[in-house]
Amino acid sequence: MRLRNVPGAREVMVENEYVFTEPEGMKGTWHEVFGNDNPVRIEIGMGKGRFISTLAAQNPDINYVGIEKYSSVLLRAVEKQEELQLPNLRFIRMDAENICEVFGAGEVDRIYLNFSDPWPKDRHAKRRLTSRQFFARYNVILKQDGQVEFKTDNKDLFDFSVEEVKEAEWKLTACTYDLHHDAALNEGNVMTEYEERFSKAGNPICKLIAKR
Ligand code: SAM
Repeated sequence: MRLRNVPGAREVMVENEYVFTEPEGMKGTWHEVFGNDNPVRIEIGMGKGRFISTLAAQNPDINYVGIEKYSSVLLRAVEKQEELQLPNLRFIRMDAENICEVFGAGEVDRIYLNFSDPWPKDRHAKRRLTSRQFFARYNVILKQDGQVEFKTDNKDLFDFSVEEVKEAEWKLTACTYDLHHDAALNEGNVMTEYEERFSKAGNPICKLIAKR
């Protein structure tokens, strides 16, 4: 995602009731944050947040937490949430490398990864959100029958991710190289900003679902 320096974005984050900018120590407290025992689903690298905001509006009995590294990107999602005021949606500004400091064992019901940064150089493979190193983190925070859902138009990243699922000894419960022409998997699909842009450009969208 192209980053702009948005003046004041950091200050907006720090003062906003929907955003956590210092989330370490929140481990195990998410049901208190939402004030209920509903499942907690997270999107890592949510960008401007259309996907997770739409899901939160559609599913009031599920709690959603959107995670994004950069204030300048997160700002758009926060502005939208200030209008919508969805009680089941919060955001965290953080690098997901530290995700195990923020969610306790089994605290997360589902993890969404959408159009994650590809990190094309081999030496950066461990930074990919579908690397075995990230699956090791998901292994801790995800409840036993929880799942990871991943969408991308980047075939190399998708092929890598399929291999990493196997390497992590997880199971692929769904896998398509053309989501928008797979009637069963595409049912109820919520498009992200990147998904709309890339599919309009004619790129097929890949999706996998992985479970332990
Ligand atoms: N998911 C959105 C979509 O599909 O429209 C945005 C996709 S954009 C290519 C990837 C986003 O992931 C960027 O906003 C980037 O800042 C964020 N990101 C990448 N690595 C991250 C990490 N380790 N922790 C948190 N956010 C990350």
